[in-house]
Amino acid sequence: MSDTPVLHVRDVRKRFGGHAALDGVSLDVHEGEVVTVIGPSGSGKSTLVRCVHQLESIDGGAMYLDGELLGYERHRGHLRPLPDRKVAAQRSRMGMVFQQFNLFGHWSVLRNVVEAQVAVHGRDPGQARAEALRLLERVGLAGKADAHPRMLSGGQQQRVAIARALATNPRIMLFDEPTSALDPELVDEVLSVVRDLARGGMTMIIVTHEMSFAREVADRCVFMEDGRVAATGTPKEIFDAPSSPRLRSFLSRFT
Ligand code: ADP
Ligand code: MG
Repeated sequence: MSDTPVLHVRDVRKRFGGHAALDGVSLDVHEGEVVTVIGPSGSGKSTLVRCVHQLESIDGGAMYLDGELLGYERHRGHLRPLPDRKVAAQRSRMGMVFQQFNLFGHWSVLRNVVEAQVAVHGRDPGQARAEALRLLERVGLAGKADAHPRMLSGGQQQRVAIARALATNPRIMLFDEPTSALDPELVDEVLSVVRDLARGGMTMIIVTHEMSFAREVADRCVFMEDGRVAATGTPKEIFDAPSSPRLRSFLSRFT
């Protein structure tokens, strides 16, 4: 087994105007590891996962997926941005789940889960369909293949979004507050799908405001503040023995 982390983030910086949304963030995620990311609103959690998924460019530092530099290639001793098609290929090795599901509303549930497999990976349509049905069953939506997203609850839509993200066999799953847009009674059905993925050995980064979940599902937890990793440790270290006063004060809001 190699020691190369699935994801290696080194000193990443991202500015919006004069504001440093990420101010030198480093993070490794190893095979099968679940890292949860907590922190106050505006601390850079979404920016971090969006940069990893290359929805945002970075202003400094570097990111590697399975040891491969993300977004850039070496050319005559310099780094130059990768062409779009190579960026798309790198992005397709990660699955991202957003707060707002982002399903295609005019497509059936099944087509939402089939399409990326065919379009991005060139998978045979019949095979893609079989895989989609298997994944819909895995997220508890076996009977909903022909439904349209608008007919589903938010929790069901988010589970479709998870199935869609899984359909391309990602090396890592990135979740950005997957339950924040849901009515409270729908949160658990989504968390239990994410929990099953964790048990199944999926490598994941999960940004969440659900503190008990962040603790329970994590191998390691990262506390972000002001665009930096302000604390990192096992769930026990972060939640039972928070080292910094600001982490303590953040956690106290949830009890
Ligand atoms: P979090 O997800 O932890 O709430 P974000 O990563 O969304 O934090 O935001 C970090 C900081 O970057 C915030 O100050 C936010 O206002 C700013 N920011 C995020 N996205 C943009 C953007 N597209 N344009 C300008 N500022 C942004
Ligand atoms: Mg956010």
